[in-house]
Amino acid sequence: MKLTWEPITLNLRTPFRIAHGTFPQRFNVLVRLDEGIGEAPAVTYYGETQDVITEYMSRVPELGDDPFDLDAVLDRLPQGSRAARAAIDIALHDLWGKRLGHPLYRLFGLNPEALPLTSFTIGMDKPEEMARQAKESGYPVIKIKLGSDRDEEIVTAIRKATDAILRVDANAGWTREQAARLIPRLAALGLELIEQPLAADDIEGLRWLRARMQAEGVKVPIVADESAHTAQDIVKLAGAVDGVVVKLMKTLGIRGALKAIHTARALDMRVMLSCMVETSVGVTAAAHLAPLCDYVDLDGPLLISNDPYVGLGYDGARMVLPMRPGIGVVPSQA
Ligand code: MG
Repeated sequence: MKLTWEPITLNLRTPFRIAHGTFPQRFNVLVRLDEGIGEAPAVTYYGETQDVITEYMSRVPELGDDPFDLDAVLDRLPQGSRAARAAIDIALHDLWGKRLGHPLYRLFGLNPEALPLTSFTIGMDKPEEMARQAKESGYPVIKIKLGSDRDEEIVTAIRKATDAILRVDANAGWTREQAARLIPRLAALGLELIEQPLAADDIEGLRWLRARMQAEGVKVPIVADESAHTAQDIVKLAGAVDGVVVKLMKTLGIRGALKAIHTARALDMRVMLSCMVETSVGVTAAAHLAPLCDYVDLDGPLLISNDPYVGLGYDGARMVLPMRPGIGVVPSQA
């Protein structure tokens, strides 16, 4: 199987500000394994850049000629860039599905009608601007990026502007004390869930926070994103959070995402399926696993203006999986 790669620049419709920084553009890498395609998002706060990803690609040894022997192929990958390894895993699954002639959801035995609604993400901005975007989007599920010093004002303004289901993501932006003070106040405004309130490595803090919220009768689920990369991380988070956010880039691709989802389920945790800022390639690949998840945040292609592929369709917040073999994306010019 022949491995090739191509750096791409993604233009964001609205410069995207989160607790980790502000991003007018993103720089990802598309990866091909014969006719299979995958994507590596260069997420700088995870140490990933286009250079890191392409350098990794140049070190990948011969992957053999059997795309059906998935684990054996993936076992040949060297250590290094998680985004790059995820992209190769996605391309391998795409190739596998294409050679077998079926979409991935079908090969996994999943119902393509059973997809939760996706949320639409609003980046950090002034409260009135975020409220305007939430209202104008018309989406029934809104994810709000927090981690500024105006978080309560922001959620209050958005709650006034829309009846949508609201999720918030602090992107590790709060201290324990801030979170303990803010969460009950935000919960009173009506939230579906709270993503990553504390620093990624503060598992004991998450455990303390969850116990404290339970003691106060605050019922909003807390889910871990930056703290939960792999199935092994999820085991450590049992009892510390109510659920986890699964992203292909964190799990090293689709194979690892399946393990992470099943691990979370075994531990009685909820699962949100999410993405980075990615094209239809990475996001459609993830969407094939959406029937296994409780919550979906797969709005990547909606945030960019120059998606080179089409795949996952959107009818508002309702997602429509392509019925083509593999992950089912085609060039947007075709
Ligand atoms: Mg998150």
